[in-house]
Amino acid sequence: MSTPIIVGNWKMNGLNADSVDRVKQIIAGLTAEPVSGVEVVVCPPFTHLSLVHQTLNGSTVALGAQDCHKNDKGAHTGDIAPSMLRDVGTSHVILGHSERRRDHGEVDETVREKAVSAAQAGLTPIVCIGETEDQRQSGQTEDTLGWQIKGSLPDGFTGIVAYEPVWAIGTGLAATPDDIRTTVAFIRAELVRQFGDAGKSLRILYGGSVDAGNAASILSLPDVAGALVGGASLKPDAFLSIIRAVP
Ligand code: 13P
Repeated sequence: MSTPIIVGNWKMNGLNADSVDRVKQIIAGLTAEPVSGVEVVVCPPFTHLSLVHQTLNGSTVALGAQDCHKNDKGAHTGDIAPSMLRDVGTSHVILGHSERRRDHGEVDETVREKAVSAAQAGLTPIVCIGETEDQRQSGQTEDTLGWQIKGSLPDGFTGIVAYEPVWAIGTGLAATPDDIRTTVAFIRAELVRQFGDAGKSLRILYGGSVDAGNAASILSLPDVAGALVGGASLKPDAFLSIIRAVP
């Protein structure tokens, strides 16, 4: 079985000092009461990566970014290349988050190209998929996820897939365990259809209003390999509880 992974997506929050303070608290918690068999990744804003990396020095917590460009250099004002992320100690990168799709018009093809160049640079891509409330209401959840899987994941993909129903993000309304179980089973079937045997071992995370209260029921579901956590990952105590909820 693959190692469970808990990823904190800090989104666009705080200043350097906040991120350093938060990561110190997470490390202190994990040092006081170590957790084994769980990978932990924190994904601060770009401008905090270097300092957070220095603070993480020697800890078991890994560093992730929230996006990267599809090219590795060139005339792309304001963008960050995968190799630049590696250069500051980043090992993971979230790609195709619904907020990037919404705010920056990212489409599946862009996400796929980013996943290719991230992997080439040695980063582990965490590719997000998920249906909107409208798509869910109109019975298009599976069609949407099917298209996103086909469009966003490149041939030979070895990264992580994060299922984040858009309607569950930041709303306090996580999908129910039954819904997550059904949808993750569908995602698994699609991954196997697309990648054959290799699709069986790709890790699938759930994201969307995961908190200290619901983490255990979500993380114990079959084939849920971990969580992508937004709001609760900004609170060290809550994030530590979620890490400890991994069965
Ligand atoms: P929340 O945990 O705040 O719902 O955010 C989820 C998310 O978007 C993680 O990427």
